[in-house]
Amino acid sequence: MILVKDLNKSFNSNHVLKGISLEVETGKVVAIIGPSGSGKSTLIRTINLLEIPDEGSIFIDDKQVQFERKKKISRADKELCGIRTEVGMVFQGFNLFPHKTVIENVMEGPIVVRKYSKEKAMQIGRENLKKVGLSEKENAYPNQLSGGQQQRVAIARALSMEPKAILFDEPTSALDPELVGEVLAVMKQLANEGMTMVVVTHEMNFAKNVADVVVFMEDGKIVEQGPPEQIFDAPESDRLKQFLARLE
Ligand code: ADP
Ligand code: MG
Repeated sequence: MILVKDLNKSFNSNHVLKGISLEVETGKVVAIIGPSGSGKSTLIRTINLLEIPDEGSIFIDDKQVQFERKKKISRADKELCGIRTEVGMVFQGFNLFPHKTVIENVMEGPIVVRKYSKEKAMQIGRENLKKVGLSEKENAYPNQLSGGQQQRVAIARALSMEPKAILFDEPTSALDPELVGEVLAVMKQLANEGMTMVVVTHEMNFAKNVADVVVFMEDGKIVEQGPPEQIFDAPESDRLKQFLARLE
């Protein structure tokens, strides 16, 4: 579903992604773990071209994503819009439109990007709000919701674009601890329904219990990857052992 080959990305002299190759199979959940600054966000931002790689290739569904290297990202770029409609993204901050209601937030993508009618967009939006348990909040504004509710709206909004995969960048890191569970529960449900997901996370229990593959990144490289049992119970590299020991 997603295939990344030998990605390299620098910000000026800071070489952030150092030859990353990664495969995400359809319907699988890949969790990316690793210390802060290791390039996790840059990697997933690169997958949907919020950052343009310096080198390497990206394939979505066997189709190579075209991008001009080093070019400034222009919103009008057709190919960029193309990839961003195929691969949804949920950020740490919820990034909802503050002046739109919940249902308007969720309908925006289907109307603007998919060019669906208002009726169809509303139907899709309502289905997805139901899925995240927020049907009764469709006329609320984001600032009337808790952080956990806002993040669930952000997930409903991503789903309403009908993406092939969703990338999550630490979706629970900005939440009060008591609100983390409701967001993880929605993500777990999506995983069970077969959504292809890449999740950068500090939630090791989520990685252990929900991910099919766990990827450990450090210093711009994938140090180790494998099924959760292998990564958590039988880590091979010293760097991963140290990382896990520090969490305890
Ligand atoms: P992580 O998500 O693992 O914490 P990031 O991908 O955010 O790591 O960052 C990796 C490195 O890239 C850091 O040194 C960070 O300062 C740098 N970096 C990330 N985004 C930018 C940017 N837009 N401009 C310049 N440097 C950046
Ligand atoms: Mg990050």
